[in-house]
Amino acid sequence: MEKEKLEFYKKRLLEMRKDILKKAKKLKEDSYSLGTDGIQDMADAASNTYNVDILMSISDNDIKMLKEIDSAIDKINNGTYGICEECEEKINEKRLEANPTARYCINCKRLMEQKGI
Ligand SMILES: [Zn+2]
Repeated sequence: MEKEKLEFYKKRLLEMRKDILKKAKKLKEDSYSLGTDGIQDMADAASNTYNVDILMSISDNDIKMLKEIDSAIDKINNGTYGICEECEEKINEKRLEANPTARYCINCKRLMEQKGI
């Protein structure tokens, strides 16, 4: 995939990540109603480490999403982004645009769904 496209997806993934962390941070602030109590702004950190307090207030779904986002970012960094993990074919770009964390091409995904994986 071209470098510019990779950058585009990376930017989108980082934004998705930021949104989840922002939401979590807000939830935490709301639940304690203490305002900012020294919570690190992890949203800008492009690392795999998260503030534990923030993680506590993230739903399981969002944690799963964060992991998928991180693994997609890893793939961008090591040059395997956009390649199906099952058949190693390129994933359709329309599919990636709709879901930048897609790990499988549509064919493999369908097969998996049929098998109930
Ligand atoms: Zn595939």
